[in-house]
Amino acid sequence: MIRPIPMKKILQFLLAISLIACNQAQEKVNDKATLITNINIIDVRNGDILENQQILVDSGKIQQIASSVEGKFLNIIDGKGAYAVPGLAEMHAHIPSPPTPEERIEETLFLYLSNGITTIRGMLGHPRHLALRKEALDGKILSPRIFTSSPSLNGNTVKTPQEARSKVTAYQKEGYDFLKIHPGIQRSVFDTLVKTANELGIQFAGHVPVDVGIRHALESQFASIDHVDGFLEGLVPEEAGVQPNENGFFGFNFTPLVDPGLINELVEKSKEKEVWVVPTQSLYERWFAPTIAEDMLSEPEMQYMPASTLANWKRRKEQSTGEGSGFSEAQWEEFIGIRRELIKALQEDGQGLLLGSDAPQLFNVPGFSIHHEIAGMQRAGLSPLQILQSGTINPAVFFGMEDEFGEIKTGLTADFFLVSGNPLEDLENLRNVEGVMVRGSWISKDDIDKRLEAIASNAAKQ
Ligand SMILES: [Zn+2]
Repeated sequence: MIRPIPMKKILQFLLAISLIACNQAQEKVNDKATLITNINIIDVRNGDILENQQILVDSGKIQQIASSVEGKFLNIIDGKGAYAVPGLAEMHAHIPSPPTPEERIEETLFLYLSNGITTIRGMLGHPRHLALRKEALDGKILSPRIFTSSPSLNGNTVKTPQEARSKVTAYQKEGYDFLKIHPGIQRSVFDTLVKTANELGIQFAGHVPVDVGIRHALESQFASIDHVDGFLEGLVPEEAGVQPNENGFFGFNFTPLVDPGLINELVEKSKEKEVWVVPTQSLYERWFAPTIAEDMLSEPEMQYMPASTLANWKRRKEQSTGEGSGFSEAQWEEFIGIRRELIKALQEDGQGLLLGSDAPQLFNVPGFSIHHEIAGMQRAGLSPLQILQSGTINPAVFFGMEDEFGEIKTGLTADFFLVSGNPLEDLENLRNVEGVMVRGSWISKDDIDKRLEAIASNAAKQ
């Protein structure tokens, strides 16, 4: 007969093995993971702040979030009370293409990263970008996650329905994430483009060609309309009898004819058809605005752009808003007011907004221009939380990748950055970058400063 083991003995035994296990865990130092301590995490879904937290990052993922993560770690970063923000997405980015030297391409990707941008949507694709997308994901280059459009589809590159069909088919086959629509496409060509894109399951985004018009563009279900293109023209009542191609810069010439009463209809349609909008408002508040080129060119971030680019920006600004350009400050006030009204309405009642500044368009230094865009969103009446969402969760939803990025959550990719000062109180705090975590790789403030210094000295030579 087997004698039962007394309960006391069993408990003693269990206690002993748990102590051994505990000791072993304490002795083993994890030299692979990174623990970030003493940070406040911003929950971009609701604006809550999780105070005094720790984030454990391993194998590119957020493994754990707790007020105190158990275990011993070799790599510990003291967050010193900084705020952890999910990595931002620049949804209207441009990646330089050859013949731009490879070094400058990588510098540009770093400029985005240095501002906490861990995802970019390249809006003018090139075969080189397809390789870059993979090199970034494989960790061969230090870069935000890349989505890339096809090369431009416009009035010159697609003149016939046959041409639309063959180009769309080729770009889909080559692996571009979506098609870039530019001005000048005729409506019948556009319709073939859309039909082919739908058959092949590739999205299209960008501009609204004049011959297509905003209503047909919305019906055709752009993935995103960028620059709020076509909307202002869509607010001109039919009885005004305008010539659509006399619209000027993004509808500027039609400003006095706008009926704001038509905003709701367009905004509702954008929601019904699930069309996102990327405002790129900074273009209209910096380049196409009563601003002074020299003021913008004296901003510290300009040191990261080649001198030849800065000279070009100044010249092009003069052509757009200088003497003899037909630019009127009074009309601009009205124009920008309508754009802000549209942006606010699209936020409140549309499908939603995606943060995108269009860099390096005039005076938009990659990465740094996101702060001008953020300021523009604020002037349109969006709350800090709504603006953060437009650069974090909304892009994740847009790409159908909420289980991958957009938040600081266990199981997601470790894409976030630390800033000193609460960005929900003042979005300018997003400029105070203390370090960037991109797919599990940590870039300290020190690393960022050194690399930026090198980029500035290269730029000065060009
Ligand atoms: Zn662009």
